[in-house]
Amino acid sequence: MHVHIFWDAQSPAGLQIPVSRKISAVLGVPTTVSENPVRMMGYVTERRQIDAHALLDSIQTYKHRHEIEDPVLLVVHQDLFKDGSIFVFGLARESVGAAVVSSARLGNEYYGLSGSDDDLMDRIVKEGAHEIGHLLGLGHCSNRECVMFRPNTLDELDRKKKQLCSACYDQMAEHMAAPEK
Ligand SMILES: [Zn+2]
Ligand SMILES: [Zn+2]
Repeated sequence: MHVHIFWDAQSPAGLQIPVSRKISAVLGVPTTVSENPVRMMGYVTERRQIDAHALLDSIQTYKHRHEIEDPVLLVVHQDLFKDGSIFVFGLARESVGAAVVSSARLGNEYYGLSGSDDDLMDRIVKEGAHEIGHLLGLGHCSNRECVMFRPNTLDELDRKKKQLCSACYDQMAEHMAAPEK
């Protein structure tokens, strides 16, 4: 098993390899990263955002067509929303092993601060590892430093460590060791 990371052509250039390596280190699973082959769907002109569920549908279709069973994370630069939320940093669909993360609100520039590739990279790693964590059987965690804590603000995201807490780590190891359904 390895996790496929698909990097959209407009996502921050040059960060894909370090992000992939760091996500692998956080979760303790192998990852590969490649240019995104999935069709971009769900753009809503009035909102200038992508409907995250439409994008997950597209990933699901791609996975099915290419018989990919392993988890897939797509990293995009467009802002994402879902029904009932103004925006989402990312979204996972556990039933099909598909997840998406947006870098739109992860750069300092979005908040009027000066840009930093290190900050941007750290945040994509945390959000990406979080969504993949869901695909690997983890729920949300109440430990504010754990990657599986659900942040509502950038500040809460920044306060998380690039680590699973020991409870989540054990739970994931157990899930991975369990026989395939
Ligand atoms: Zn979550
Ligand atoms: Zn945890």
